[in-house]
Amino acid sequence: MSQNGQPKIAFVTGASRGIGRAIALKLASENACTVIGTATSRAGADRISKFFSDAGLNGYGVVLDVHETGQIQKTLAEIIDRHQSIDILINNAGITRDNLLMRMKENEWYDVIKVNLDAAYFTSKACLRTMMKARWGRIIQIGSVIGSIGNAGQSNYAAAKAGLIGLTKSLACEVAPRNITVNLVAPGFIETDMVAALSDKQRQQLVEHIPNKKIGKPEDIAHMVCFLASYRADYVTGQVIHVNGGMY
Ligand code: NAP
Repeated sequence: MSQNGQPKIAFVTGASRGIGRAIALKLASENACTVIGTATSRAGADRISKFFSDAGLNGYGVVLDVHETGQIQKTLAEIIDRHQSIDILINNAGITRDNLLMRMKENEWYDVIKVNLDAAYFTSKACLRTMMKARWGRIIQIGSVIGSIGNAGQSNYAAAKAGLIGLTKSLACEVAPRNITVNLVAPGFIETDMVAALSDKQRQQLVEHIPNKKIGKPEDIAHMVCFLASYRADYVTGQVIHVNGGMY
C-alpha cells in the first residue's frame, strides 16, 4: 500500500507458474499490491487472472514474451498508461538451455542471455521514469546461486545471472537518491518445473549438497521478495540475497 493509501502496482514477469506465481500471489496478499503477472501464452495469462480472482486478490495476467524487445516496451507502456505507474518490478522470467560450452549452439547462448539478462535492462528502463517521478520504487531481480558459483553445462545461464548482479549493483547506485532500491534474490534449488525435470538419482545427489537437506519451495523465495518490496526494506539496496538452504 502506498503512503496515500493507493495500492502499489507490481509487475512480475513469468508469473504463470513456479517462483513467479508464488511471488505474484504473495505480493497481492501480503503487500496489498495490484499485481500484473506475465505468461508467454494467452492461456497462461488467463490462468494468472483466474488464480487472482479465485483467491479474491487484485491482479491479472498479460501475455509477454520477454525475448521480444518491442513487446516488452509496448506492454509496459500500456500498463503504465492504465495504472499511471509500476512501483514494484520483479524480473523473474527465466529459462535454461543447458549444454557444455564446446557444444553450445549460438541460439542456446543468445536465448538465455536475452530472456534472463537483456529483458531486465528493457523492463527496468521502461519502469524507471515513473519511479523517479514518484521518488519511490523497487526493482528485484531473480538471479540464481549458479550466477555466483557457476555450473558445468550452464555457462550461458551462469553468465546471464552473474550479469544481473552487475546490473543490480550499478543501477542501485544510480537510483538510490530517488529512494528506489534494486536488489537480487538468488535462489538455490527450488521445487518448480525447472527442477522437476531431474531424475530421482539427480535429485538425490542434489539434496546431498544442500546443508539443510531440502529442496526449497517457491514461497521461500516469495517471502524474501515481499520483504524487499516493502517499506521495511527502505535501507537495503544493491544486495544479492541468497536463499538456498545453506548451499552457498
Ligand atoms: P519455471 O517454473 O520454469 O517458470 C518460468 C516462468 O518464466 C514461466 O512463467 C514462463 O512462462 C516464464 N517464461 C519463460 N520464458 C519466457 C519468455 N521468453 N518471456 C516471458 N516469460 C517467460 O521457472 P522457475 O523455476 O519458477 O524460475 C523462476 C526464476 O527463478 C528464473 O529466473 C530462474 O532462473 C530462477 N531460479 C530458479 C531456480 C529453481 O530451482 N527453480 C533456481 C535458481 C533460480 P510460461 O508459463 O508462459 O512458459
